[in-house]
Order: sequence, then structure tokens, then C-alpha cells
Amino acid sequence: MFLELRNQIIHILNTFLDLIYNQKCLICSCAKTDELLCKTCSKDIRYLSTYAHKFFKNIPFYSATLYDGSVKKLIHKLKFSHHKKASIPLAKILFKYFKNIKEQKNYIIIYPPSYFLKSAQRGYNHMFLIAKEFSKLTNIEINNKIIKKIKYTKPQYKAKNRYKNIKGSFKINKNELKQIKNKTILLIDDITTSGATLEEIINILKENNINDIICLTIAKT
Ligand SMILES: [Zn+2]
Repeated sequence: MFLELRNQIIHILNTFLDLIYNQKCLICSCAKTDELLCKTCSKDIRYLSTYAHKFFKNIPFYSATLYDGSVKKLIHKLKFSHHKKASIPLAKILFKYFKNIKEQKNYIIIYPPSYFLKSAQRGYNHMFLIAKEFSKLTNIEINNKIIKKIKYTKPQYKAKNRYKNIKGSFKINKNELKQIKNKTILLIDDITTSGATLEEIINILKENNINDIICLTIAKT
């Protein structure tokens, strides 16, 4: 209850500040921009090549950028400082990269769901906000019902623990299978470190004979 109230107050304050300051760069606060990320702050984004940087069970993993500088700051603002608007430039970064991936298919967007209590705590699922903005830019539909998170998982810092921790924490919603039939799953996420979360989702999709998948993250560590 207290957390919800706190989140609402932060949200109202942020909206109020946006009104006073109009559009400003989310990182350096300069007003010399009509975007949420100014030209100077955009310069330090290190885009990666449009080749898959790894494969897991034949599924390619692409990452748009390296996790540092402005990208890292935007992700932090979205996840930890209630700046929901940071989802807009982050989706644009993802879109700029995605346009250059050669294979354009009949995609459907999915993203790792968060445990319902965790979303309630933050007040929103940050990946839903990014997916929504990315969907607007690409005109690709989102399916946020096919994968459910059924277990709360604490963030793990050791790669070995990450795999153990995430095992069995997702479940497929079989009622949604027909919605994604004949589509290529575009599995998106903000950051990939070990890849444990995405790999676990791929395992679950593959157990249900869904094999046409590509993974795309905004940043890689
Ligand atoms: Zn700036």
C-alpha cells in the first residue's frame, strides 16, 4: 500500500516536472532538443554490428549496443528512478538497430514477464513500456500472455547462480499458442548478461515446438 502510494506520488511529480520543463534531454537536462535524448548524449551510444553475437540451440542473439554511457543511464532511469519516458529513446535505439537486421519476417514481440508482485512494487513492468514503444515504431504486435512468470527470482550476480535461479520460473500459456502460430518470435529484453533468462524462455518455447525465434536486446554487458 505504502509502495503504491509512493509510486503514484513520484509519477505525479515527474509529470508535473515534465510540464514545467517541457521537453528536455533525460540525461543532461539540456533543453536544446526536441527529443528525449539530445545529440551530445546520443553520441556515446556504441552500436554493435548486425550479426548475431551468439547462438543458443540455433536461436540467434542480437544486441543493439554495449551497456554503458547513455544507454546504461536510460535503463537505470527507467528501472530505478520511475522515469517511464526513458522507454521512448530506448525503444528508438532498439528500432534503429532492428531496421538493419536483414531478415525481416512475420514477427510477434514477446518479452520476459515480471513476477506480478515485482511489477506491483515498481508500479509498472519496464519491459512492457519498451515493448509498447517498440511496437509503435515497428507496427509489430505484442503478445504478453504467452509466457507467465510463476516464481519470484532475486537478481543473481554469479552466472552459475543465474541459471539455477531462473530454472522453472516461467510457464507457457497454451491458450495463446494459436495466436503466435506461423509467426517468428521476436524475443526482446533490455540487457543480456549471461543470457539465462532468455535461454530459459527459449527452452520453454522449444518444449512447445516453437522454434522460429530471434532474440534482440538493447544492450549487452
Ligand atoms: Zn543530453
